[in-house]
Amino acid sequence: MNPTVKSVDQKPKVALRSRLAWKFLLAFVPLLAVFCLGTFFITPYFYRQHGLNDLRSKAKNVARIAAYSAAPAVFFEDKPTINEVLQSLSRDEHLFLAIVIDEKGQEIASLKKDLEFDLTPLRPWRQGMSYNQRFWIEIINLDYQGKNVGRLVLGFSLESLNRGTRLVQRITGLATLVLFILSVVIAYYLSFLVTGSLRRITQAVAAITEGNYSHRVNINSHDEVGLLATSFNLMLDRLAATMNHLEEARQTLEKRVEERTAELQREIAERIQIEKKLREREDLFRSMVESLGEGVVIVDDQENFLFANAAAVRIFESEDRPLINRNLKEFTTPDQFALIQEQTKLRKIGQRSTYELRLTMPDGREKVVLVTATPQFDDHKRFISALAVITDITEMKKTEDVLRAMKIKLEESIRQLEKRNEEANLLIQMGDAFQMAQNEKEVIAIALNYAKKFFPEESGALYLKSKDGQLLQKNESWGAFQFKADYFFPEECWAVRKGQPHEINDPEKDILCPHLALEEKSPQPFLCLPLVAFSESLGVLVMTCCHPRGDEDKLSQEEFRANRQWLARSFAQRLAIAIFTIRLRESLKEQSIRDPLTRLYNRRFLEESLDREILRAHRSGQLIAVMMLDIDHFKQVNDLYGHDTGDVVLQEIARVLEKSVRREDVICRYGGEEFAIIMPVNSLEVAISRAELILDRVRLLKIYYKNNIFQNLTISIGLAFFPDDGTSSGDLLKAADEALFEAKRQGRNRLVLFRSLKLGDS
Ligand code: GH3
Ligand code: MG
Ligand code: MG
Repeated sequence: MNPTVKSVDQKPKVALRSRLAWKFLLAFVPLLAVFCLGTFFITPYFYRQHGLNDLRSKAKNVARIAAYSAAPAVFFEDKPTINEVLQSLSRDEHLFLAIVIDEKGQEIASLKKDLEFDLTPLRPWRQGMSYNQRFWIEIINLDYQGKNVGRLVLGFSLESLNRGTRLVQRITGLATLVLFILSVVIAYYLSFLVTGSLRRITQAVAAITEGNYSHRVNINSHDEVGLLATSFNLMLDRLAATMNHLEEARQTLEKRVEERTAELQREIAERIQIEKKLREREDLFRSMVESLGEGVVIVDDQENFLFANAAAVRIFESEDRPLINRNLKEFTTPDQFALIQEQTKLRKIGQRSTYELRLTMPDGREKVVLVTATPQFDDHKRFISALAVITDITEMKKTEDVLRAMKIKLEESIRQLEKRNEEANLLIQMGDAFQMAQNEKEVIAIALNYAKKFFPEESGALYLKSKDGQLLQKNESWGAFQFKADYFFPEECWAVRKGQPHEINDPEKDILCPHLALEEKSPQPFLCLPLVAFSESLGVLVMTCCHPRGDEDKLSQEEFRANRQWLARSFAQRLAIAIFTIRLRESLKEQSIRDPLTRLYNRRFLEESLDREILRAHRSGQLIAVMMLDIDHFKQVNDLYGHDTGDVVLQEIARVLEKSVRREDVICRYGGEEFAIIMPVNSLEVAISRAELILDRVRLLKIYYKNNIFQNLTISIGLAFFPDDGTSSGDLLKAADEALFEAKRQGRNRLVLFRSLKLGDS
């Protein structure tokens, strides 16, 4: 609470009138009382002491004087004198008793004013005050001429002294009482006067306490109080100014307090609103958590449950017994619990993670749950618990396993499809390659190459029918397994017989092809594939098929084998078609470039070949001999023996020509009974000797036909050379023809070189 406000609210303190004066009196009265009492007691005392001292000195003097007179009288036992002395002493008003005692202690004379007075209590005589304080006993020795003759005992009454003392006491008591009262009254009055100024100051203070800051103390004295009042007024001025400031500050503060209060009220209202919303949200969150399909649990660092929602209770199957304060150990095997503890270590360093956990139910069933755990820390950043969202994925896992198996199967299928696709592509590539093949040999080389690609684990041998169709001869083979049979008869193979693939899995059970009887036992089944195209049997592909795969089930193995067999069949079909096609193509080509009668090349082929040879010779610098040949007087053969005989002669001369040149030389029937030969040669002599050999062989030729012998045939030859006699096919053929014409002209049955014509010209 603000002190200024409090002081304003307080009741003003009432200054007790003359309280200070009372206080002053309280201090003064004891002193005064002590003084008065001291006076009361000390004055009579001193009075008495003074009187006593007087009496004592007087007694001593009286005793000395009396002793002086009495000593001789005692010595001389002069009783009258002694009595006289005693009588003289009795005149003293204070003397009460006088006794003279001799040296033997006998009272020899006495004087007693009160005869009734009993002296017994005073005996034996002692110097000083009597026991009852009423007498003073003075004893003096009576010496005469240096000898003690007795004692004189004097008793002085203290009655008058005591009376005086009592009177003094009364007077003193009365005086001190009057003095005390007067002093108190005067002191009170004086203190009242002195504290008057202070009282005014006190009143001013009381007024100020009541809030009257305009009040001033009106004291004009120049003493300390006046100075105090002036200082006090000055202080009041300053206080008033300060109070004004304070009032202003208070008002400002009040205003600010009001504003702040309003602000706080607003804030409080907002906070209440927020708290309400938070509560609502918390309720919402709680109901959400409770209604969540996922289990939500909070576990402490020892894996004890602190919270679990309904779904978590269902997951842990703890409807009968609350989960709270139970431990995860109850639901896990030691290795899974160790996994949880490992995860908790991660939580402690603030990591959040998701992992799979296997729970073991009390009846031994296993559940797989997916746990997403988040750490929770207190204000001091100490790990307190882990919040975990738990999803039962047991069914999902099972489905996942099924899906995974399906996926694997699907992937396998895709792999198979891809492989099939790859194989199909390879088959297409192989088909393209077959298209490019120039001859059957190339086709078989291509086939072998692809066979190694298609069937790297398998082995195979290609058996093709011999030209006469009697045998199947081994052509090419691949793989580790060696097929021993170099040939066999077509009927020795069931595939050839059936025109269908034939598989021999177990030689003991399946029908074994006879041609395989001699083969070694193969770890893989044999598969014979007939090579059939357009109903024509071309041979058989014998192979091992298929290399089994160890990691597959039986169904997949079957599927795999079926696929491999399909591939083998496709391969064999394509190979058969390729062989058939290339053979057909070769045959057509032959037909297009060969003369049907003589089987020699025709003129078109010769011209093409000559152009090709000229190009090649341009590069190599080789010579080319172009020979033109014409049978002499052939018309007569026709005329004499008929056209068919003429044909036979043409065929026979064609064989002579074939035998007389090298295989790579090109022989063609140029037209009618004319022939041409193209021979790449190293020298002119080689070509000339060949021409002469032909001339000789034709001359010696004997042809037997229809019981007739035809002989004495001759032929004329014209010979030209590249590049000397011409650099184009046309020029060269023309040159050779000119030389042939010259041979005819010179009488036939001879050779003429074109260069000899040129020499002749020149
Ligand atoms: P030369 O010595 O001058 O060459 O006389 P030749 O009789 O050989 O020449 P000619 O040109 O007069 O006769 C060629 C004959 O060849 C004419 C034709 O009947 C014959 N002949 C052409 N082609 C054939 C054929 O295919 N078969 C048969 N049998 N005869 C043919
Ligand atoms: Mg001719
Ligand atoms: Mg002729």
